[in-house]
Amino acid sequence: MSRQLSTDAFQFKLQSYSPSRFLTTPKGRRMMKTVNTFKVTILCGLITILVLRGTMQAGPTLPDSITDSEVERVRVRSSARARMLAQVEEGDSSSSGGEEALTSRKSVQHEKWDPKTPYTLGPKISDWDAQRKFWNTMNPGMNKTRTGKPKLLLVSGSQPGPCGNPMGDFYYLKFLKNRIDYARIHGLEIFYNMAMFDNDMTSFWAKLPLLRKLMVNHPDVEWIWWMDSDAVFTDMTFEMPMHKYEGKNLVVHGFHNLLYEEQRWIALNTGSFLIRNCQWSLDLLDAWAPFGPEGETRVKAGKMLTAKLVDRPDFEADDQSALVYLLLFDDPKWKLKTHIEWEFYLHGYWKYLVYKYEDLMSKSRPGFGDDRWPLVTHFVGCKPCQEAVTTKLDECLAQMERAFNFADNQVLEKYGYTHRSLGSFKTQRIRKDSPDPLGLLEETLPALEKPQNSTAPKHQAKDLLQH
Ligand code: UDP
Ligand code: MN
Repeated sequence: MSRQLSTDAFQFKLQSYSPSRFLTTPKGRRMMKTVNTFKVTILCGLITILVLRGTMQAGPTLPDSITDSEVERVRVRSSARARMLAQVEEGDSSSSGGEEALTSRKSVQHEKWDPKTPYTLGPKISDWDAQRKFWNTMNPGMNKTRTGKPKLLLVSGSQPGPCGNPMGDFYYLKFLKNRIDYARIHGLEIFYNMAMFDNDMTSFWAKLPLLRKLMVNHPDVEWIWWMDSDAVFTDMTFEMPMHKYEGKNLVVHGFHNLLYEEQRWIALNTGSFLIRNCQWSLDLLDAWAPFGPEGETRVKAGKMLTAKLVDRPDFEADDQSALVYLLLFDDPKWKLKTHIEWEFYLHGYWKYLVYKYEDLMSKSRPGFGDDRWPLVTHFVGCKPCQEAVTTKLDECLAQMERAFNFADNQVLEKYGYTHRSLGSFKTQRIRKDSPDPLGLLEETLPALEKPQNSTAPKHQAKDLLQH
């Protein structure tokens, strides 16, 4: 049995997909960058003025009880802050002029890629499995979690600067909180990246250099789970069935028939996937990355992908299409070690899921990860960080709030709270605080009572627990 998406559903998804990816073209991005830089400069200027004003007024507005030395400390601190802000402003304006300001003495020359040579993510590594094995032999136990499972690192990231729309930053923060909760509950390690590791690999390509850096710098980590910044865990109790993926190196959500028979560009989704830390994966990244460098290379690769993949609109190469291409037309070893997951929502398209949440809450419970309670809701195509405010974005943001609260209820329940409704960030109590939060008194009392007479006082259990 294999799941399929209807043609209508595809149209739906395609419409929501392509225009937003067009907006990530170099020209669009340059324009947005200039506008953002301008805004940040003005903001920094305003803050500087406010801080300087504060500095000048620091003396007269301080309470009488403050001593001279404290006044001096406040002055020094305030002027240091003003200086720092001025530096940020300076750094920002110099980088927008095309030059990178040096912030550290420890710096090596950025090796600019020559488009005439094949693009690489770094020096070729050919014996990574042996290197990892050696490291792990030298550091026994490091590659296991505290419960003895192979280490899994949850990774996500977003752009280094502020969002064009502050609501984007707000939801990225909420989604990060959601990831921290999921990682805590399941004993995963977590890494959130906001640095650009490779100037040529912008936008949805930024994950590739990051994954390589994480693999080679964390030999103890067995699996890396990449999750887009616009994806949220909606089943907080579902545990990844890692036993299914023995012998596989890549786990990605998709549909076999759409991929291998119909060759559709949206047969899989790269918004949430797992990749093993091994030589095969480094090789895959090496084969994947040459589609990505911004500019002519990415544009040309996009044309090739559009020609080869079914229903793909004409736009620059994206990481998802490139992976589909590799699985279909490149070395068969990619397909051999890739698990296409369709049994639960490792990625779930938000438009199919968000309107069902209330129904699920009344009929189902978390723990399934599939249609009964989706593991991940991914806001594909929403681009919450972009400035242009549209009715579509408004709907995205409203649904992001609902998805977050749907998940957050599963977290808050433990503490006796719930959101008033899925659309509200406000919460309400669902039970009164108890002097017996762990339920221990209730459980131990009957056991204590049995051998004694039935009037054994409750304080005996309390005494027992205290000693
Ligand atoms: N991203 C990143 N750094 C950047 C820009 C983007 O790490 O500078 C990541 C971010 O996690 C984002 C992902 O790339 O979610 C893919 O982009 P997006 O989600 O907008 O694409 P879509 O899922 O809509 O196709
Ligand atoms: Mn995404």
